[in-house]
Amino acid sequence: MLEEALNEPRSQDGGSGEKGSRSEGTMPKRRAAPTTPSIRGVLVDRDGTVIVDVPYNGDPERVEPVEGAKRALDALRAAGLKVGVLTNQSGVGRAMISEAQMRAVNARVEELLGPFDGWFICPHAPDADCDCRKPKPKLVLDAARTWRIAPSTIVVVGDKDSDVEAARNAGAHAIKIDGACDIASAVDSIITDR
Ligand SMILES: [Mg+2]
Ligand SMILES: [Zn+2]
Repeated sequence: MLEEALNEPRSQDGGSGEKGSRSEGTMPKRRAAPTTPSIRGVLVDRDGTVIVDVPYNGDPERVEPVEGAKRALDALRAAGLKVGVLTNQSGVGRAMISEAQMRAVNARVEELLGPFDGWFICPHAPDADCDCRKPKPKLVLDAARTWRIAPSTIVVVGDKDSDVEAARNAGAHAIKIDGACDIASAVDSIITDR
């Protein structure tokens, strides 16, 4: 399941015309570039992925990490990967929380889950028609540029289809958190498949 999620988006192949005709195990070794580029960065969604989802939360005291999230994120850091947060915070754009409240919540997240290599945040309301709200690819591409790595070496881990689609739209990989896959198993598969 996870392997499939990691292998699915192949938009970085450069249109070599080989799509759909891959036959595993029979590829000549002449290709310099691996078909699955190694992973160099991970973008985790915030709410419902690394902390318990409290809709439009502006209170740092209500931040509660998902079980196993700290250990999983530390494993990514120890593996030398960039680790960032990719999050839609429309509560700001809807004026339900202030930007200062959002920042206070994010600071608490870092306090509990360790430092991140970047926060990639869309604060806009859905009807603002901004450039950055997931599933748009902009924030994934911003992370790639900030980290000086290719989008195809980034995995987005999130609990919604919009997380997966943002990754696909950017040419990155995606792993969806659901009943069968939590942050710990997602991270295991990233480190194993790398
Ligand atoms: Mg989420
Ligand atoms: Zn936005």
